[in-house]
Amino acid sequence: MQALTPTPAAVAEPAARVNLLGMPRAELAAFFVGLGEKPYRAAQVMKWMYHALVDDFDAMTDLSKTLRAKLAAVAEIRAPALAGSECAGDAVVKWQAAVRDGQTVETVLIPESADAPSRRTLCLSSQAGCALDCSFCATGKQGFGGNLSRAEIVGQAWRVARHLARQDDARGITNIVFMGMGEPLLNFDATMDAAEIFMDDLGFGLSKRRVTISTAGVVPRIYDMAARADLALAVSLHAPRDDLRSTLVPINRKYPLDALLAACRHYLGTVGERRSVTFEYTLIDGVNDSLAEAQALAALLAPLRCKVNLIPFNPFADNRRGYRRPSGTRMRRFQTTLQDAGIPSLLRTTRGDEIAAACGQLTGAVRDRTRRRSRLLASDLAAA
Ligand code: SAH
Repeated sequence: MQALTPTPAAVAEPAARVNLLGMPRAELAAFFVGLGEKPYRAAQVMKWMYHALVDDFDAMTDLSKTLRAKLAAVAEIRAPALAGSECAGDAVVKWQAAVRDGQTVETVLIPESADAPSRRTLCLSSQAGCALDCSFCATGKQGFGGNLSRAEIVGQAWRVARHLARQDDARGITNIVFMGMGEPLLNFDATMDAAEIFMDDLGFGLSKRRVTISTAGVVPRIYDMAARADLALAVSLHAPRDDLRSTLVPINRKYPLDALLAACRHYLGTVGERRSVTFEYTLIDGVNDSLAEAQALAALLAPLRCKVNLIPFNPFADNRRGYRRPSGTRMRRFQTTLQDAGIPSLLRTTRGDEIAAACGQLTGAVRDRTRRRSRLLASDLAAA
């Protein structure tokens, strides 16, 4: 059918404003040059954005009024709104960040603890949901609703930093981990840009050891990361053998353990001998927590500079396989076996689980584009 009145060209939509949040320093400098300004304006604006936590160009009093007006016309500083904070008894706080397409993702602030008295870690999301569907993780069960933009990733930290500053809490965020919802290495460019802002002195100014990317094992992107950035790498391992790992972490079928560990060695070779890779290993009762598995893990990791974080399985609603957390005795036996083999390992105390803010419990409001959920329901029906 033909439109009766053609749309007049004169009423075209105004061009979208460029969001400066999360834009790396060199790109921001180029942006100013494009506006006919000096590149050092980037440093001025970054200080306002990340040190003063300002999102209003008008407040940037060392810029001329003309430049402020020009910026307001073409640019914006926009972080996702944070809503619905929930605070656990152990002082872990969880927020919902409103991101693209009306979806929400979760951001968790884990404050100081007896284990880490000076560490205040923000665990942020890189995607709405997750496409990897690890069998023991609540996030994957929701399906996948798309990548977050770099502004949505940096914006989670920016909002939390501003929240702390407004409470006159001068200590701020000391560590950032990409361990919330999503697989950061499948949202590579936005993740790398965000990490750059977290480490930039004009950004959050965190050292490279305090910004951690955690991956389920997207092997080619580990090589890309080695070429582009120097930050802490964590790998979600969960099993010492391919057959078992493939049932827990399906991406293992594509990138098996040999390839994954080779990528880790390459990463360490690039970033420097004195660094190490952290392996995360969620302990699930009777699934991956036997003595034999601990010994096999120790043998597998012996040639690598690494440490192992053992995470007690955290239950969640859609736990179809009926996984359980092992007893304390079994978990300590696993840890001792690794330690006796010379592999530093920490049995993490679970924090935030009463508000479903612990590892693997994060879910938001995600529009699943993979239709995994409906496929699952269909297969359940077929099986019934
Ligand atoms: N996709 C990335 C980032 C998520 S990090 C990755 O896999 O590394 C979240 C960590 O919590 C991962 O190590 C994940 O394997 C772990 N995890 C997921 N579900 C869990 C659960 N139910 N209990 C404990 N840990 C879990």
